[in-house]
Amino acid sequence: MTAHLRCLSCNAKLPAAEHYSCPECGGELDVQYDHDSIREDGRLAQSWRQPGPMAERFAELMPLAAPESAVSLGEGNTPLVRSHNLARRLGLRHLYFKLEGSNPTGSFKDRQVAIAISKARELGRRRFATVSSGNVGNALAAYAAHTGGRADIWVSHETAEAKRQQIEIYGAQVFLLPSPQGDGGPGPYFSALKGLPDFCARHGLVPMISARPINPYMVEGAKAIGYEIAATLGRNPDVVFAPVGGGGLAGGVFKAFSDLVAVGLADTVPQLRGGQRRAYFAPVDRMDEPQYQTGYYLPLDGHWAWQSIQASGGTLQIMEDDAIRAAQGELARQEGIFAEPHGAYALAAMIEAADKGTLDPDALTVCVISGFGLKDMVAAREIIANAGRPPIEVASLEASEAHFASPESLELN
Ligand SMILES: [Zn+2]
Repeated sequence: MTAHLRCLSCNAKLPAAEHYSCPECGGELDVQYDHDSIREDGRLAQSWRQPGPMAERFAELMPLAAPESAVSLGEGNTPLVRSHNLARRLGLRHLYFKLEGSNPTGSFKDRQVAIAISKARELGRRRFATVSSGNVGNALAAYAAHTGGRADIWVSHETAEAKRQQIEIYGAQVFLLPSPQGDGGPGPYFSALKGLPDFCARHGLVPMISARPINPYMVEGAKAIGYEIAATLGRNPDVVFAPVGGGGLAGGVFKAFSDLVAVGLADTVPQLRGGQRRAYFAPVDRMDEPQYQTGYYLPLDGHWAWQSIQASGGTLQIMEDDAIRAAQGELARQEGIFAEPHGAYALAAMIEAADKGTLDPDALTVCVISGFGLKDMVAAREIIANAGRPPIEVASLEASEAHFASPESLELN
C-alpha cells in the first residue's frame, strides 16, 4: 500500500491511519498514492481489468492495508450499458450509461461505505454514524449489519420514505431531524452534517458522511466507478456526465481518471460535465457564499467537484426539478433504466446540452446513473401521473378482450 494522507491546507503528510481531519491544523485530508511506484510495480496493470472484488482489483489505488480482508456485499462491477434510443435522440454515436443502481443497496454509496468501513475495521472500529439524505444511510446500515457492527443514522423528514424504511430493515437506529426546507428551518439537518465529527469523537463512533472533509476514505470508493468505466471501454472516455449532489462522485471519478493517466494506464482525462439540482444546495461554482446562515459551505465536496470540472475543461449545469423528472421518465421509457431523482441529474444535464447543441456526436460519452428508482416512489408517482399509461380496470382476463379488438392493436412500438 502506497496510500498516505495529505492535508490540503498545511500540506502535512500522514500515514493512512485514524485521521479524519488534519491533526496539525484541522484541514481537509486527501488520500494520495505513489503513482511512480505503482507504475513500476506493475500489479495494477494486471489486476484492474479483471472483474473481482473492488478492493482487490484496484488495491494499489485503495487505502487498505489488507485488501483481501475487505468487507464486501458484492458492490461494484456495475453494468456499463450502451444506449441506443436516447443516443439516437441526442445525436450521440457512442453513449453508455454506468448503472450504479445495481449496487447491493441501490446506489454508488455502497462503494464508499465498503472501503471506509473496511478501513475502520482495520483500525479496530465497529461503531459507525452518519447524517444522510438517505443513500449513505442505506449503505451504512447494510454493511454494518453484514459485519456485525452498529450504525446510528440521522436523516430528515425530507428523506424519501423508502430510504428510511431501508435503513430500518437492516436494523440500524434512525434519528429523525426536522426537514431542511420545512418549518423547522434549515438549521438542524445541516448543523448535524457539520457537527457529526465532534459528536462521533465524544462517543467513540466513526463519522461516515461521504464527504472528504469528514472522512477522506469514503470518497476513495467512488473512484472505482471511473476505473471500471475505463477498464470496460479499454480507455478513458472523452466525456463523462456526472451528478453533483454532495460533490464526491464528480470529484472521485475525476480523481480516478487522473490516477489512470498518472500510472500510465490511460492517455488523457475526460471532460467532466456536472449536473446539479437547483433546489437544494448552492451551485458549486458559487461556493464563496456560505449556505443557510450556517457559516460553512455546502455541498461539502462542492469545492472539490468544481475544481475537478474546471481542471477537465468541463461544464456545470444547474437543473430544475421539472427537467430532472423529465429525464427520469425518458430514461425509463426509452432505455428501461429506472433512476431515482439524484440518479438522473447528469442525464438531465446531458439532455439540456443536446438541446443547446453542445455535445460532440463522435465523443465516447458516459453518463453516470447513481441510484435506483425504487428508492423514491413519491418522485416516480409524479412522473407516472404525467406520462405513464393509466391502469385499465378489468374483472378478468376475458374482460380484457375489448382492448385487443384486432391483431394490429397487439403491435408494440
Ligand atoms: Zn493541516
